[in-house]
Amino acid sequence: MGKIVDFSGVKVDNVTLTEAAEIVRHYVIEGKARIVVTPNPEMIVAAQADSELKDIINKADLRVADGISMVVVSRILGKPLKERVSGIDLALKLMEIGSDYKYRVFLLGGAPGVAEEAGRRLKKQFPGIEIIGAYHGYFNAGDESSVIKKISDSNPDILFVGLGAGRQEKWLNHHLYELGATVGMTIGGSLDVLSGRKQRAPRWIQALYIEWLYRLLAEPQRWERQLALPKFLYLTLIKKVL
Ligand code: UDP
Repeated sequence: MGKIVDFSGVKVDNVTLTEAAEIVRHYVIEGKARIVVTPNPEMIVAAQADSELKDIINKADLRVADGISMVVVSRILGKPLKERVSGIDLALKLMEIGSDYKYRVFLLGGAPGVAEEAGRRLKKQFPGIEIIGAYHGYFNAGDESSVIKKISDSNPDILFVGLGAGRQEKWLNHHLYELGATVGMTIGGSLDVLSGRKQRAPRWIQALYIEWLYRLLAEPQRWERQLALPKFLYLTLIKKVL
């Protein structure tokens, strides 16, 4: 089984959820600044026209496959990914581990109040973690340096960044060394779910590989973004055999 699976030039590490969490646990022990990203089909499509994003994903320390269609495609291509590792599942697993090791966690992203609410809920579920800071993701350029200072002053083991796909990877990559966090991990819209503001698709829907349909029905305004899925299939499967 290959260690890396390539999707149209975007590399993803072939790890299980447990393996990914173990890798991040070691990152925290080592204390060196690292980036963990969670590419999904939409990001793989976006990366085709955005070389900066593609580069950041490819150079990140750990890249997990956040999309069941990536697992399906990898199997068809004969380079099977072990499993899907969604950002939110990895974040939750790290909270579980972090509860034992008293991880210092900073949550950045979402509308005002979302990160704080997610922090309160996480602390209840994983009492051992220390939520050392939470801040919304709609700060402007003028506030940026004070946001960075807030984070670096708090010295987090893990900084979760949910500023929207594309922006969050670039922001984290650009500021990694100023942020003073050991691990910076991008999590897309996970804070909305962790705060209880949005519902994740039930497990049985995920098991049927139709989470995309659930999201389309729950948030029909996302239809345009969801076109990324057929584009991803075209790019990785159809284009390959043509
Ligand atoms: N977001 C943010 N700042 C922005 C734009 C988006 O904090 O300037 C947040 C938004 O509130 C939401 C998340 O980014 O919580 C959405 O990210 P993305 O679209 O990547 O997530 P997905 O919906 O695909 O999980």
